[in-house]
Amino acid sequence: MTRTKIIATLGPTTADKAIIERLILLGVNVFRLNFSHGDYDFHAKLIKDARSLAEQLNRPIALLQDISGPKIRVKPMEPVQLIENNLLYIWRKNPPKGTQNSIFINYPKILDGVSIGDQVYFADGTIRSTVESIDSDKVTVKILTGGKLTTGKGVNLPVGQIKISAITPKDKKDIKFGISQKIDLIALSFVQSADDIREAKELIKMAGEDVPVFAKIEKSSALENIEDIIFGADGLMIARGDLGVEMGPYVIPVIQKQIIAKAREKGLPVIIATQMLMSMVSSPYPTRAEVSDIANAVLDGADAVMLSDETTVGDFPEEAVKVISATINETEEDYPWYREFVEIEMRDNRKAMAAAAIALSQRIGVSAIVTFTETGLTALMIARQRPKVSIIAVTSNEKTYRRLAVVWGVESVLVDRKYQDSDKAILNFYKRAVKQKRIDPEEPFIVTISRHSTKTGTTNVIQLVDKQSIKELQTLAYKPRN
Ligand code: PGA
Ligand code: MN
Repeated sequence: MTRTKIIATLGPTTADKAIIERLILLGVNVFRLNFSHGDYDFHAKLIKDARSLAEQLNRPIALLQDISGPKIRVKPMEPVQLIENNLLYIWRKNPPKGTQNSIFINYPKILDGVSIGDQVYFADGTIRSTVESIDSDKVTVKILTGGKLTTGKGVNLPVGQIKISAITPKDKKDIKFGISQKIDLIALSFVQSADDIREAKELIKMAGEDVPVFAKIEKSSALENIEDIIFGADGLMIARGDLGVEMGPYVIPVIQKQIIAKAREKGLPVIIATQMLMSMVSSPYPTRAEVSDIANAVLDGADAVMLSDETTVGDFPEEAVKVISATINETEEDYPWYREFVEIEMRDNRKAMAAAAIALSQRIGVSAIVTFTETGLTALMIARQRPKVSIIAVTSNEKTYRRLAVVWGVESVLVDRKYQDSDKAILNFYKRAVKQKRIDPEEPFIVTISRHSTKTGTTNVIQLVDKQSIKELQTLAYKPRN
């Protein structure tokens, strides 16, 4: 098992129960469902298969619904072959019949934001152009790098913050569908500001749920508003595919490090995505550079690394998971454990308790920090400090049990019901964990728990549990109390 978590996107090449089972056994913690592709029947079947396997294999697997967002695309048209210095017309309304080199895009309003000299990219940045002139009916661009432009290809315009909502009518339907399918996590594409996250959260709430929302960082405007987005989101995904097209690839390594560091201060999980093992779409072996990229994401402090094409359309999905897992395992042999944070919010109880539990674990030899958590927040606060000892989150909340699958280092354990008395809860956990070989009965461990209350947010005890104290707990448990 890896401390840095593994996310695999499910798609055509992995839409098979036997393959999903093998991916789980190879160490996948989270499956991503990409709602830019596939219909509801396709996704519902994947969700059903992944869920039943997780249950059967007794694994806390989370399902992440990736909402496609307002990706700007070329509308249906005949393919156009573009060559250098050609002019291409992007019309605000349907192009007049018979005009050459004319296209129409799904969000023509966005053209209001362009200026002469701006760069406009098509098809993931493979076709490049620059804005020549702007008229009331169209924008004319000159091709810098040519190629064949076909229906549905993506368009990237550097237009800062234009007023299209990050949540399209399709996204709204998709979110409702995801919630009806009891999805565990939602990722929102092309987030520009914290307002987009608030809007998504409102929709989720209206559907009667509280699913955590991950903001996909793939626009320059998201970088400008990163502080607010970190404040408003439940997690981040550094979506290097679109971000690299919009900002150029060279800024990504540093941005990745900076965002991870910022998010970690708040205890926000961060996913690193796209092209991690791109060559493995058609080869059973990775390149050295890809292995180094994964290792760097691990060392940067990512919570999870993600596979996309590798496991959706690639020829070697299982090999890709094996490679990502082997790379993580090897890198974690020499990991920068224990990162200190300057605590700004001194009055945050959870952070304080988590910091104290970690300090204790560094001073006494223990094998694990066992945290009883209903919302999962205490587990997040422990994980963000990256302790070397295991983090075991014990919860009676099924949602928390699965949601924590995306968080670095957290193993979650589902228990039947909320406890009345922490002694009994600890003893029950101990018996089960020993049986499941989750902990070594000879080694002491640290517990964070709430003494009596079953309410959330009330962790008020840090307890060192060793063999002797287990014996005492056992005696207590059998003694009638008065
Ligand atoms: P996508 O997002 O796969 O939905 O485009 C990830 C990225 O842009 O990197
Ligand atoms: Mn993207």
